[in-house]
Amino acid sequence: MRIGALEAGGTKMVLAIGDETGKIFEQKSIPTLTPEETMPEMIAYFKEKEVEALGIGCFGPICLDKNDEKYGYITTTPKLAWRDYPIALEFEKELGIPVGFDTDVNGSCLGEATYGDAAGLKNVIYITIGTGIGAGIMVEGNLVHGNLHPEAGHMILKRHPRDTYEGKCPYHKECFEGLAAGPAIEARWGRSAKEIPEGHEAMDMEAWYIAQALMTYILVLAPEKIILGGGVMHRMELFPLIRKYVKEFIAGYVSTKQLDDIDSYIVPASLHDDQGIMGCLVLGMNAVSQK
Ligand code: ZN
Repeated sequence: MRIGALEAGGTKMVLAIGDETGKIFEQKSIPTLTPEETMPEMIAYFKEKEVEALGIGCFGPICLDKNDEKYGYITTTPKLAWRDYPIALEFEKELGIPVGFDTDVNGSCLGEATYGDAAGLKNVIYITIGTGIGAGIMVEGNLVHGNLHPEAGHMILKRHPRDTYEGKCPYHKECFEGLAAGPAIEARWGRSAKEIPEGHEAMDMEAWYIAQALMTYILVLAPEKIILGGGVMHRMELFPLIRKYVKEFIAGYVSTKQLDDIDSYIVPASLHDDQGIMGCLVLGMNAVSQK
C-alpha cells in the first residue's frame, strides 16, 4: 500500500511516501507558512503520489477526541495562522482517503514501538528535547490521548542549586521545557546546545533536569523503555549523565530489570530521525483498518 506521511511542525512540514513495512520511498520538507500558502502544496503532493491513506503527526495542542466537534483541529497553538484550523479534516476532504491523526510525539513513539528499539513493547515513552519538550506515551499498547493529550514537557521541576536562570516558558517559567529545552540552554549559557563544549557544566545541569523528569515518568507510567530524541539529544554525552542521575534520584526505591540494565532502558532514538515519519505511516495504516 502507498501511504502518505506528514510530520507537521511549527517551522517545517515533512512530507513522505512509504509503505506498511516502514520503507520510505521519498521525503521532502517545506516551510510552515500559513494554511492558505502551505496546504495546497501539500494536498497537491499527496494527490500526485496517489496515496491510499495518510498519517499526520502534528504540532499542538490538537483535538483527538472523535466525539468532539473539533476533532482533527489544531486548537490553541501560539502559531496564530494555524489556530483553530481543521488540518486533518481538510486532508480527508481534499484527498478522499482515510486519515490518521495524532501528536507529533505520539507519532514518534509509535514509530519506535513499531520499527525501532522499542518494537514489541507496549509501555513506551518517547521524549523530544529540542525547540520545545514533549512526550509521546504508549500505555498497554495504546497511545495516550485522555482529555487532550499528554503535555509532559510542562511539568514543574525542582531547580538546580546552581541555576540562576529564570526559565523560558511563557506560561510557567521554570517547567521542564522552560528549564531544559534548546532555547533555555541558549538563554542560560549564551550559546546553543550544539555549540557548548564537551565537559561543560551546561551538559551536567541539562542531564540533571532531564533525569528528574524521567524519574517522574518512570514512577507514574512504569515504561518498559524510554527513548530520547530531538536536537538537544544529539549530544550523546548526555546519556551516561542522565542514566547516572536517574539511578541517583530513584535511590533504589524501585528495582526493575530495566533499571538494572539502564544502558538499554534509557536510549537515543533508533530510526535515524525518521521515527516521526515512520510513525505517521503506521497512523495511516491504522486509519485504513479503522474504516
Ligand atoms: Zn511550561
